[in-house]
Amino acid sequence: MQSSRRGKISHTLQPISIIPLLILGCLIVVLGSHTFTQAMYDEVELELQYVASNTITLLDTVYPGDYELRGDQALRLYKGETDITYDYSLIDRIHDNTGLDVTLFYQDTRILTTIRSSDNQRFIGTRAAETILNDVLYTGNAQFYNNALVNTQTYFSYYVPLTNSDGSNVGMLFIEKPRAEVDQTVQSCLYPLLLAICITIVIMLFGISRYTKNLVNVLVKIRNYVSAVSAGNLDAALPESVLKRNDELGEIGLSIQSMHRSLRTMVDQDGLTGLYNRRCANRKLELALQKSAQSNTPLCVALADIDFFKKINDTYGHACGDVVLKQVALTLKSHLRKYGFVARWGGEEFLMVLEQSDLPESEQVLENLRNAIANLAIPFEGQTIHVTITIGVTENDGSGPDNLLCIADSLLYEGKTAGRNRVVVNKVTDIAENLTE
Ligand code: GH3
Ligand code: MG
Ligand code: MG
Repeated sequence: MQSSRRGKISHTLQPISIIPLLILGCLIVVLGSHTFTQAMYDEVELELQYVASNTITLLDTVYPGDYELRGDQALRLYKGETDITYDYSLIDRIHDNTGLDVTLFYQDTRILTTIRSSDNQRFIGTRAAETILNDVLYTGNAQFYNNALVNTQTYFSYYVPLTNSDGSNVGMLFIEKPRAEVDQTVQSCLYPLLLAICITIVIMLFGISRYTKNLVNVLVKIRNYVSAVSAGNLDAALPESVLKRNDELGEIGLSIQSMHRSLRTMVDQDGLTGLYNRRCANRKLELALQKSAQSNTPLCVALADIDFFKKINDTYGHACGDVVLKQVALTLKSHLRKYGFVARWGGEEFLMVLEQSDLPESEQVLENLRNAIANLAIPFEGQTIHVTITIGVTENDGSGPDNLLCIADSLLYEGKTAGRNRVVVNKVTDIAENLTE
């Protein structure tokens, strides 16, 4: 059941965070490059327009007058009174200053140009395409093209009609820039930008993926902890990494941990006296014995029983018996705090474990304890109750908890039959005496 649920959150969380980012990234790349390229093309168009208008002004200033073809056989182009047929000086200067090619058409024929073929010959005498003539020469409108083909090269080009003083369109001025040059500029600006966008997106994807994984890991740790506790493992612990978190998951971890503590208290504590109950005492005794064996230190196990307790119940009532039990428990706990622990073993019986104490020391502690109980004056409904206890105590001999408890119990019984209100110790000399008898 549990394993079938594994990874479901990460399978949901990762796509819902990563897919929108990928889509956004693609949109940025596609729209960004399109907008950037368009902006560059617009810039080129403006540049061509500007140079075209300046060239026309310059031609009119340097060679005032109209364009006219003169001559009978070898026709020549005049601007005003100047023969400009082979006069490349002005357009070459513009080419040198701007890096742009300039061509002057009379009607549909290239008369002057800065464009040269591979053998360095000027590309003159050829004719303009029919579409361009229709768009520019015949209509009198300037036109921008981003794919004009001249001598196998594609150009960004701007055509402006050349007009004489009578308003007639007699030719065209053509300013052009090789498309490869513009594309190279676009690429050199755009590629680093696209690369930066891609790297940013990859870093964001990596970050999101790591964050999601981390989140799911924490959830898995909390899930494992809750599963362990609900399966009865009250020793399970939530990893520190979860508890240290400063977010809601850390708070959930702390809440579950305090719930675990309350559960543990409820399971381990005796409701009346607040001491450990028998189940918990068994576990703690096992651990204490392990520790004693590992560190090779002494340990004593004692069982105590209130004398004639039934009589207290019978004389003063069960509620009084409860008050006495609580008071005795409190006294036992305060005397044993420094030495080990005490638990309610049964009705009016208590188990005491004295760690790192040998038998003589334990006997002394228990004797003081017995005395303290005997001196208790327990008030109940205007009366004062006095009780005594009998204790049987033995030292750990490595024979195991059951055997130690059995010995302590028989010593306690011994104390009862010997007259109660006493501490009975399992002395080695006693055992030796018993053996010789
Ligand atoms: P002994 O000196 O031999 O131990 O005599 P005793 O009367 O103490 O022993 P006995 O076993 O005859 O009686 C124990 C009594 O303890 C019987 C039982 O009703 C009472 N008892 C056990 N648990 C509780 C409790 O939680 N509250 C009260 N008030 N009495 C309890
Ligand atoms: Mg008793
Ligand atoms: Mg008893």
